[in-house]
Amino acid sequence: MITPRTYLDYNATAPLLPEARAAMIAALEQFGNPSSVHAEGRAARAIIEAARIAVAALVKAKPSEVIFTSGATEANAWVMGAGWTRIYFADIEHDSIDVPAARSSAERAALPVDGNGIVPVESVAAVLADAAAARRSLLTLQTANNETGVIQPVADVAALAHEHGIAVHTDAVQAAGRIDLDFRSLGVTTMSISAHKLGGPKGVGALIVRDGTDLKAMIAGGGQENRRRGGTENVAAIAGFGAAAVVARNRMADWSRVCDLRNELEREILAVTPNAVIAGAGAPRIPNTSSIAVAGRVAETSVIKFDLAGVAVSAGAACSSGKVGASRALRAMGLSEDLARSAVRLSLGRDTTRDDITAALGAWRKIMAAPAMAA
Ligand code: PMP
Repeated sequence: MITPRTYLDYNATAPLLPEARAAMIAALEQFGNPSSVHAEGRAARAIIEAARIAVAALVKAKPSEVIFTSGATEANAWVMGAGWTRIYFADIEHDSIDVPAARSSAERAALPVDGNGIVPVESVAAVLADAAAARRSLLTLQTANNETGVIQPVADVAALAHEHGIAVHTDAVQAAGRIDLDFRSLGVTTMSISAHKLGGPKGVGALIVRDGTDLKAMIAGGGQENRRRGGTENVAAIAGFGAAAVVARNRMADWSRVCDLRNELEREILAVTPNAVIAGAGAPRIPNTSSIAVAGRVAETSVIKFDLAGVAVSAGAACSSGKVGASRALRAMGLSEDLARSAVRLSLGRDTTRDDITAALGAWRKIMAAPAMAA
């Protein structure tokens, strides 16, 4: 018998939406080079520009501020590598921020994180007041965390940073299409988003760059993307991104149902496992994410057991070369090594059903009924 699958790993990626697939197939038929002036070229160009308008609308930016990239990893690396003297960032950032920021020639100024996973505005104020002004400084703060879903006070932090003449980047990958995002009122300089978390294709995303920002080209040598990212555009992927952005915007109301399901899941988990810790539960969170830690458990083992029970979830902890590590973000929130190593992330999508939650709870009960293995 084939076990029906329950997919609860939407923060890793979402299935391709039918609307995105249809837009991609239609775009594949338009073979023209979008930079060509003839009718074939203009047809391809029109697809890109329609997608740009849709993506801009999703985050309330101007179409002229949207630069298509190969994804958020590229967009983040681009900004981190843009020649800063100092970068302010916290230990909760995704690797695609943390690694290029740490490897850049910029000095690092650490931002503190509280027990709920929030970077408090007051502590940012203190860090900025203490620091001697550095020329060309950047502060980067994610909009929402990929493991816990915790939403950061980006607008307040950005306002503070700008008072000190500091540029601000936000990685909005996990927030886009799940909460209302307003590029202008967040007040950030740049923002990264990714298509595949929205039900668009993989390998395409965008960097939103506020008009008038001085940012060196990511790829020089072609005039594409306003001379900022050369290379003939991935028209079909961009078309899929645009279609997914339209669906995301039209279906924002679905999240309140998903949030209820997530909250119900957490209540049931706490009823079965009173010692479980829901990371960031005391903070505002995006509606779909739950990070659950239980002392004495090992995340990788739980993920495998979930998988065998037909439920796809992921570990909060990063796993490299077969070694289980404790999640950097959860450690930064003050969770013990043991707890941070145990965290599993369940992330729901717009189409998640009550049956999916029932399946996840069934798997959870079985996993928790088995004795914890020595780590
Ligand atoms: N930032 C965050 C917060 C993410 O969750 C991810 C995807 N895991 C990325 C950046 C990278 O996005 P992409 O897959 O488009 O490179």
